[in-house]
Amino acid sequence: MFRSLRSRIAILYASLMLVALASASLLALGLAGRAYQDSLRRGLESQAHLAANALREPLQNGREPTVIDPMVKALGRDGQARITAIATDGRVLGDSVEDPSRMDNHANRPEVMAALSSGYGESARHSATLGYDMVYVALPVQVGEVTLGVVRAALPSAPVNQALSRLAVGLLVIDGLTMAVTVLLAWRLASLIAMPFAEFIQAAHRVVEGDLQQRIQVCDTREIGELAGAFNQMASRLSETINVHSQEHVRLAAILANMADGIVLVDEQDQVIMVNPAARRILGILEDAPLGKTFIEVVRDHELAQMVHDARGLPGASTRIVELGAPWRYVRATAKPLAGEQEGQIMLVVQDLSELRRLEMVRREFVANVSHELRTPLASLKALAETLQEGAIDDPQAAKMFLGRMQVEVDGLSQLVQELLELSRIESGWVALRRETTNVVQLVRQAAERLQPLASRQGIGLTVQAEPGLPELFIDGDRVQQVIINLVHNAIKFTPPGGQVTVAARASSEGVEVSVSDTGVGISLEDLPRIFERFYKGDRSRSGGGTGLGLAIAKHTIQAHGGRIWAESTPGRGSTFTFLLPVS
Ligand code: ADP
Repeated sequence: MFRSLRSRIAILYASLMLVALASASLLALGLAGRAYQDSLRRGLESQAHLAANALREPLQNGREPTVIDPMVKALGRDGQARITAIATDGRVLGDSVEDPSRMDNHANRPEVMAALSSGYGESARHSATLGYDMVYVALPVQVGEVTLGVVRAALPSAPVNQALSRLAVGLLVIDGLTMAVTVLLAWRLASLIAMPFAEFIQAAHRVVEGDLQQRIQVCDTREIGELAGAFNQMASRLSETINVHSQEHVRLAAILANMADGIVLVDEQDQVIMVNPAARRILGILEDAPLGKTFIEVVRDHELAQMVHDARGLPGASTRIVELGAPWRYVRATAKPLAGEQEGQIMLVVQDLSELRRLEMVRREFVANVSHELRTPLASLKALAETLQEGAIDDPQAAKMFLGRMQVEVDGLSQLVQELLELSRIESGWVALRRETTNVVQLVRQAAERLQPLASRQGIGLTVQAEPGLPELFIDGDRVQQVIINLVHNAIKFTPPGGQVTVAARASSEGVEVSVSDTGVGISLEDLPRIFERFYKGDRSRSGGGTGLGLAIAKHTIQAHGGRIWAESTPGRGSTFTFLLPVS
């Protein structure tokens, strides 16, 4: 109640006014009362003097009340006051209002006792004779040093009290009116004082709601002006600080969004409070709104969850390699407890090492494959050489045969080394393509011609289908021809006698497509996606002479030309290898 500034000011102002008015009125009432009493007393005193003078002589002569009383009644009629004549022993000798014989002894009346003892007495009290409040003034009647009696003048106090009451009522009315006006004025004044604050409050609310451009214009007093200035300064400081922070935030968000390492922040309750896109990718987080959920709900990996949990008890960062499944990822995770304001929070940094790991595995596989491919021809060379050494060299016929076989193995080895070199050159991009404007149909025909004798020997039909009017391409003809030869050679190799191999060249929307189809053994579904890998050989041919590098070289050659190569096959029915070269 009364908590608003306006009502407080109004109440304070009105209260001050009330106290001032009440004090002034009470003071006025007190002064008026005293003035009334003084004039009443002075009036009574002068009437008592008159009566004393009039009664001195009859009292001196010892007149009876029968004489004195009529005199007193005459005096009472002349003045307004009630006059009483009293003997020194207290007997009432005369009274202007009452019959003195019916009045009791007045020796113990306070004003009479005071008059006798000190020469003047007064009192204000209830009159036992008249039955209402009176003010009495008593004076001794003296001749020289002899006191003859006491005269007393009295008037009822009621008129004085009535006058005072009227005055009080008047003052009350004036005070009431003044208070009413004061309250109105106080309210108005309080409103004037409080008005600027309403604007301050509104502006502050708007700042709280985010409108940092809010400024205050009022400055009707120096203090309010200063306050407005301080408020405006505070708002612009706040705006600047928030700007700086939001810029910082934007920068930080951009860094977090674009960094390769994944970052997850977890609070004391194991709830995720921040995840960057890299972490989503690396950890395979599918949750749309991960924030506020527990780490295990979001990441779904117990090893990482345990690591985050354990990091709380450790002084520094802990690092571990974790393998995540489906899809497989090889991840280095570092959990670090944060300090300072972020005490209790854990930062998990994850680095995706899957590609490195894969390359490492490929490299190992490559070394294993090369060793494996070298071992067989080397072993047979060694065996042949040993057989020759052990005496076969002396048998010219056998020696010739062994040397012939050795030559086949050495040829195989040198082809393998040649192909390896070729592949690594193309893969590393060291080989410069010798591009020339080339007629693809011609390339296809030449390749087919070269392999025609082999196909015939195997009892396989080899035909070429070339669409007329194919565009010429800007390519390295020798290498592309080598690719066609490889494909046709494979087709012949994997097609039983009586089969058919068709080489076709046609235009497509992107360039020229060359396909080599056969009616051979085909490729199993599990082999099909892998046949372009280095050293990959289908099961049926594993024992055969191929190196498994031909298709890998073909793929790299076609890719180096900006094209692509793919294979389709129905096991048992045949395969089709197609490559597309763009028209550049
Ligand atoms: P290779 O020199 O051993 O033939 P390639 O890289 O040329 O090596 O071929 C890889 C594997 O792809 C072969 O071992 C074979 O299993 C399969 N392949 C290639 N061409 C054909 C085809 N026309 N028909 C069936 N399988 C094929």
